[in-house]
This record gives sequence, structure tokens and C-alpha cells, in this order.
Amino acid sequence: MTFIRALAGACLASLCGFVAPAKAQTYPTRSITMIVPFAAGGPTDVISRIVTSHMAQTLGQSIIIENVVGAGGTTATTRAARATNDGYTLITGHMGTHAASVPLYPKLAYHPEKDFEPVALLAGTPILILARKDFPPKDLKEFVTYVKANSEKVNAAHAGIGSVSHVSCELLHSILDIKPVGVPFNGTGPAMNALVAGQVDYICDQIVNAVPQINAGTIKAYAIATPERNPSLPNVPTTAEAGLPGFQAQAWNAMFAPKGTSPAIIASLNAAAIKALDDETVKKRLLELGSVIPVPKDRTPEALAALVKSEIAKWTPVLKPAS
Ligand code: ASP
Repeated sequence: MTFIRALAGACLASLCGFVAPAKAQTYPTRSITMIVPFAAGGPTDVISRIVTSHMAQTLGQSIIIENVVGAGGTTATTRAARATNDGYTLITGHMGTHAASVPLYPKLAYHPEKDFEPVALLAGTPILILARKDFPPKDLKEFVTYVKANSEKVNAAHAGIGSVSHVSCELLHSILDIKPVGVPFNGTGPAMNALVAGQVDYICDQIVNAVPQINAGTIKAYAIATPERNPSLPNVPTTAEAGLPGFQAQAWNAMFAPKGTSPAIIASLNAAAIKALDDETVKKRLLELGSVIPVPKDRTPEALAALVKSEIAKWTPVLKPAS
């Protein structure tokens, strides 16, 4: 009896000895840094904050947003690519940092596919053509006529070469066959402030930080570049309705970890991201800001890997290297 008890005790001890270190290593044991490659208040920042605040509850650790700006988001993305692949440094990238930057930066210090583990797609973000409140054209047809006639004088704000706002307006400008001056900012948060203040003429940006401004009447929205209107902006016509069907643009934001981050960590981050996207409050907030919530089949790391691949293939022939 005593022997059996002793044996059971020994077994328990060895079991505890086995369990304890494994438990001690359970990810995450400390706070996680989420690099946002643009300034606070822009779409990438806002989407990251909404989703990670819920993920932090699931993971039981805080997620600290670090805004690292510059070079259309490629400065931050380089830093994330070089970070230790232990799950404690992540990045919220987008169509620019993880696709359009490839053809635009011949010396890009990272490759979106080779240097990152995809975690999860967070949001689709339709593009809008937006202008300062007192920009003369009153609708998209007038805008087209006006910018063509004044292409030497007008300017378009963007978040740096290769950013979504830059690439989207490049697409618009190529359709209109104009080359207006671009005004770079560290993100479209500050670019939006400049638009509201009337310091720049127009921008092609992701819907997220535009919705509150459009609804408050501080800026003008000419059109949304998607096939359907967005429920958050029912009065904004599509580019097709407004007379420019050729301009179609939708971006996306997604979470990535440095290459070599363990599959178990990627799985727990992906699960936490999916849980956040299914949370009613998170969903409501993202939808109010016009984002498109990824459907379940698009939420896996594999689906994000496929998206990055297809987006690089899509943008590479369209964008010429920046000189
Ligand atoms: N929307 C921005 C872009 O143009 C970046 C940002 O999120 O501030 O890429």
C-alpha cells in the first residue's frame, strides 16, 4: 500500500515534472508587439487596434501597437521581417506592404512570401475617391473633367510610394492618363487630417478612416471603387454608377509573423484573430467603418498565403519600378 502510494506519488511528481515546464512555455507568456507600418489614426492602425484588443483577451496578454512609419510601410515591414520569430513581434501589413511594394521597390529588403508566415486576413477595405470639402467638382464626372484640365495644379495625398493610397490613385491616374503631384504622408491618418484642413486636394483611400469624415461632412466622397455600394455609406455611388466603371479597387489588411515562427504559435494567433472577427462588438465596429469581414474560407494562413501570391502577380505587371 505504502509502496503503491509512493509509486503513485512518484508518477504524479513525474507527471507534474512533465507538465509544468510545458505549461511554463505556453505562448504567450508576455506582451506581444504589433507593428503598424503607418501613423496612428489610419486604416491599418484602426483595424489593428480593433482586432488586437479582442485578441489580447483571448491570448491573455496585452498586444502593444507600435507605429513605425516611412517608405510606404516598407521600413516597418523590413523591421518585422528581421524580428525574432518567437511570436512576440508581428505586423499588420496590407496590399501595399505585402504585394505592391515588390514591383515598386527593386531593392526591397524583404520578400512578402519568403520572409513572413501569414497569420490571418483581417479585413477587406474598399477604396474611395475623396476630396477636400471645397474642391470644385461636385460629382465624379466633374472630377474627371477637372483633374484632366488641371492636372498640373491638383495634388493627390498618399501614404508613401507603394502604399494603398498611392497605388490606388496611380491606377486612377493611369485610367485618366494624368500625372498630378503626389503629396506623401506617413499614413492616411495624417493625410486625412490634411484633406479635412483643405491642405491637399484629393486622395484614393481605404474606406475605414473616411466613413466618419464623410458622415460628418468634412470631406467629399465622389465614388466607391467596388461593384456594390457599401452599407456604411449608402449614398456614395459606385464608380460604375458615377461614370467611371474601369476604376475598381479594393485593398486588404492582414496579420503576418516573421518567417519560421512555429506552426503552433501561428495556429494560436490565427484562432485568436478568427475569434475576434466573430465577436459581435468587433464585427459591428469593422462593419460601421465599411470593412468587409473575411468569410471563413478566407481566414486561414493558407488562404492569406494564396492572396499574397495572387496580389503580387496582379500588381507586378501594373506597377513600374519607382525611379
Ligand atoms: N491606408 C494607408 C495606405 O494608403 C495606410 C494607413 O493605413 O495609414 O496604405
